[in-house]
Amino acid sequence: MSEQALKDLLIEELQDTYSAETQITEALPKMIKAATNPQLKQAFETHLRETQGQIRRLEQIFKTLGADPGGNVCEAAQGLIAEADEIIGEDHPAEILDVALVMAAQKVEHYEIASYGSLRTLAQTCGLNDIARLLEETLEEEKATDQKLNQ
Ligand code: FE
Ligand code: FE
Ligand code: FE
Repeated sequence: MSEQALKDLLIEELQDTYSAETQITEALPKMIKAATNPQLKQAFETHLRETQGQIRRLEQIFKTLGADPGGNVCEAAQGLIAEADEIIGEDHPAEILDVALVMAAQKVEHYEIASYGSLRTLAQTCGLNDIARLLEETLEEEKATDQKLNQ
């Protein structure tokens, strides 16, 4: 296995995650609007700001790698967001809608946790320790959001 091939895979997967985060910043305002519980609204608002920071972190990584952030569409995020949209479009009582939104959001967080965990390990394997540390920061934010949603 060549080091270049691993680095190419890292870039491709980073682009997928960049696409996912971009889609998430477009989806979260709709979820903020749909949520009725003030704490849930607040949690989504906090995570929207965090997500914007995660995008900047990824852009910093692409700059370090001399790579383009675009060029890959995350189809998993498209699917997960389509499911969230479906829930918002259904005629649920307020509390049920909130629970359904938490479930939809946790599916997104779990996808991100899987992605960032693998990306961090891949960066470490490539000897890119500064990049691995940045990815670890985002990983911790996604885990904390998932924990908050559990409550
Ligand atoms: Fe994220
Ligand atoms: Fe993806
Ligand atoms: Fe997230």
